[in-house]
Amino acid sequence: MAANSQPVSVVTGGAGFLGSHLTDRLLAEGHRVIAIDNLITGHLTNIEHLAGNENYRFIKQDVTRYLFVPDEIDYVFHFASPASPIDYLELPIPTLKVGALGTHNTLGLAKAKKATFLLASTSECYGDPLVHPQKEDYWGNVNPIGPRGVYDEAKRFAEAMTMAYHRYHGMDTKIVRIFNTYGPRMRLRDGRVVPAFIGQALGGTPLTIFGDGSQTRSFCYVSDLIDGIFRLSQSDFHEPVNIGNPREMTIKQFAQEIIRITGTQSGIEYKPLPVDDPKVRQPDIGRARQILQWEPKVQFEEGITTTIDYFQKWLARANHP
Ligand code: UDP
Repeated sequence: MAANSQPVSVVTGGAGFLGSHLTDRLLAEGHRVIAIDNLITGHLTNIEHLAGNENYRFIKQDVTRYLFVPDEIDYVFHFASPASPIDYLELPIPTLKVGALGTHNTLGLAKAKKATFLLASTSECYGDPLVHPQKEDYWGNVNPIGPRGVYDEAKRFAEAMTMAYHRYHGMDTKIVRIFNTYGPRMRLRDGRVVPAFIGQALGGTPLTIFGDGSQTRSFCYVSDLIDGIFRLSQSDFHEPVNIGNPREMTIKQFAQEIIRITGTQSGIEYKPLPVDDPKVRQPDIGRARQILQWEPKVQFEEGITTTIDYFQKWLARANHP
C-alpha cells in the first residue's frame, strides 16, 4: 500500500469504454487513479468529467512502449486493447502488440512496484466454442490465423504471460474473461452489435443482421461487469474468472427487442456472416458466484433503455466520434 494508505491504481485503456467505468468505480472506492491510453480506440469524452479531479491523472501513451510511472502503485489493471471486431480487423498489429508487448510491460510495471495485476481477458479465448455454456476450464476452439485470431491469440498469450509471472515471480495476478458488455460510452460506430442496432434504430435505417441471426450472445450491463471486476481485484484467486450475464438470446431476438423498445420504423436487413463469428456464447458464472459472491443485477430492459437514452443524447451532440 502506498505511504499515505490511499490505494493507487494504474488503468491502461483508461479512456476506453470499460477502462473509464472502472476508473469511476476505483475513484469511488477511494483510489488514486493513473490512467494510460494512446487514444487509438479510446476517447477523451469518456474522461472529460474527471478533469480537475485531484485523485486522477491521465497519461497519453502507448503501453507497448516502455512504461515509466514514478509513483508507488498498488494495482495495475491492464485494459488497453482494441476490442470490437471492426477495430481489431483494422488494427491487427496494434492488437497483437498490446496483448503481447503491452501485457509484458504492464506486468513488468506491476512487478517493479509489487502491485496486484489484473488482466482484462475475453470470452474470445473460447473462440467458436464447442462447449456451451462456457466454463473457465474449457480450452476453446480458436482459429489462430483467421481475422479474429489477432485478438483471440493476443489475449490467450496475455493469459499465459500473466500466469507465468504469477508462477515464476510469485506475483499477485488475476484474470477476468469478459463476455459481451454494453452501456454508455460505447462508441456509436465501433461496429459492435449493441451500438450498431441502437444507432440504426434511432437513425431510421435497417438493422443489419449478419448471417441469419441465429447466433447467440449474452449481454451484461457495464455496472454489473465492473462490480465483478472490482470484487475479483480484492480476491486472492489467480485463475481466470468469467464475468458476464448468462441471459442468452439470438441476434435476431436482440434486433426485435431494439425495434420494440425504441419504437422505430426500421426494418431488418441481412448481411453476410463475418468469418469465424462464434455461433453461440454464454458464460457459466458458477465460479464468480462461488468465489466473488457476484451475479449480475441489472435487467436487460433497464440496461438497454439507459444505453438507448445515452446514444440519443450523444447523437444530439455535435462532433461525436
Ligand atoms: N452483428 C450483427 N450486426 C451488426 C453487428 C454485429 O448481426 O451490425 C452480429 C455479429 O455477427 C455477432 C454478434 O452480432 O454474431 C455480436 O457481434 P459484436 O461485434 O457485438 O461482438 P462479438 O460478440 O462477435 O465479439
